[in-house]
Amino acid sequence: MTEPRLKLINPAIEKMSRTEMLSLQERRLIAQVRRAYERIPYYRKRLPKEASTLSSFAQFRDIIPFQSKADLLVAQTDLMTEQVANPGSQVVSMHMTSGTTGLGQEVHPLTKLDVEAMGSTWVYQAHWAGLNLGDSIVHTFPVGMQTGGLSSFSMAARMASRFFQTGIYATEKKIDYLLAYKPNALVISPAYLTRLQAVFEEKNISPKQALPHLKAIFIAGENYTKDWAERSIDFWGANISEWYGLMQGGLNLCFSCEGGILPNGKRGHLHIMEHRVLVEILHPGTNDPVEPGEEGELVATTLFREAFPILRFRTGDRVRLMANTCSCGRHLMSIEAGTVARYDDMMKIRGQNLWPDAVDKIVFFAGDIEEYKALVYVDKEGRETVDLAIEFKSNTGFSDSEKALRVKEISSEINQKVNVRMDIREVPYLTLPRFEFKTRRWTDERRAGRDFIRYQSH
Ligand SMILES: [Zn+2]
Repeated sequence: MTEPRLKLINPAIEKMSRTEMLSLQERRLIAQVRRAYERIPYYRKRLPKEASTLSSFAQFRDIIPFQSKADLLVAQTDLMTEQVANPGSQVVSMHMTSGTTGLGQEVHPLTKLDVEAMGSTWVYQAHWAGLNLGDSIVHTFPVGMQTGGLSSFSMAARMASRFFQTGIYATEKKIDYLLAYKPNALVISPAYLTRLQAVFEEKNISPKQALPHLKAIFIAGENYTKDWAERSIDFWGANISEWYGLMQGGLNLCFSCEGGILPNGKRGHLHIMEHRVLVEILHPGTNDPVEPGEEGELVATTLFREAFPILRFRTGDRVRLMANTCSCGRHLMSIEAGTVARYDDMMKIRGQNLWPDAVDKIVFFAGDIEEYKALVYVDKEGRETVDLAIEFKSNTGFSDSEKALRVKEISSEINQKVNVRMDIREVPYLTLPRFEFKTRRWTDERRAGRDFIRYQSH
């Protein structure tokens, strides 16, 4: 594979050395924290007085406390007086988080500059993925009061895009629009891309012919295996680019570069927009920064937000800090594509730590399984048990005995690699739920009411 041509959109930032970037970040951080202390009652009460004279990164790490979601769920009635910087902030929009953690929905006030910053940051990804001004984009996430959908308008406006918001329509209608408008880009979750592929296959439509202008597919919200990435890129005939974002961080803040999610068969870099956000990646136990190549929790501080900046927000997201510089040569810090997960996705089963993505990797490895669903429960003897229902693809041509053999193979591989024995059974095609926006394959009856697999918009 030839290296894709480098597409710089802001050379001053993209070619900046580490030293220059750290100095820019420090300047912005100091200004942001001092301003937050001076102008926002919420921070005046919460931060130590030294915040008003903050002078370095080191001091920031010493004196600024972490923020959690619970900290941000302050009384909404006092929102405009407590959480908005004054003077200097004219709020034009309110965005909500999705509330999928079950703790409640945060409301974030935004100024015109805050809204524009969301769009202008996202433009880096569009540009790196090969889109040009005026290209058409089909967006499949629903648009409500939550930020993910709302921010897409700001990005599309910046790209002067012919923009189709198809989120509210059923799959059949979405496909009609795709085939009619033949977009240059598609914005979609990995779960839904998988679903669309299955429907295209059923209808015998080849996207390479039916969607000849498709240049890039933008994904976020879930982790995936390298095999999934390879197969999807091949099926759609377009490169896939991932983003990672969260409302508390000022929205989308890490992006694939020109090579996409799987350059040369390896997991790609998601470059952090370090001029707009300070990212710390910390060991959850000790809060020490991780070494390159290690996993830790992403902690975000906005450097470029007017109405309500966020300081040291603990995302609960597990990310891997890349060990090497990306082949694109950008010195921006980066995390690994495809492996972002939530720490609360991890389950402890019979004393073993189990991450759902480890099971995904085994089940979907050979490409013959369409979907699976897992239930964790305590059986009559009081043992923790996992029931795994798997559904084969409709086109495998397997006989019953071949299917039974595959079930056995998957079972023993899970047993070996994950070290948790599971009861695996086959269910008929189209029995299991398909996913439009977030995959929810795991149900843990031991923790009723919890759901799994999500890492965006908290
Ligand atoms: Zn790169």
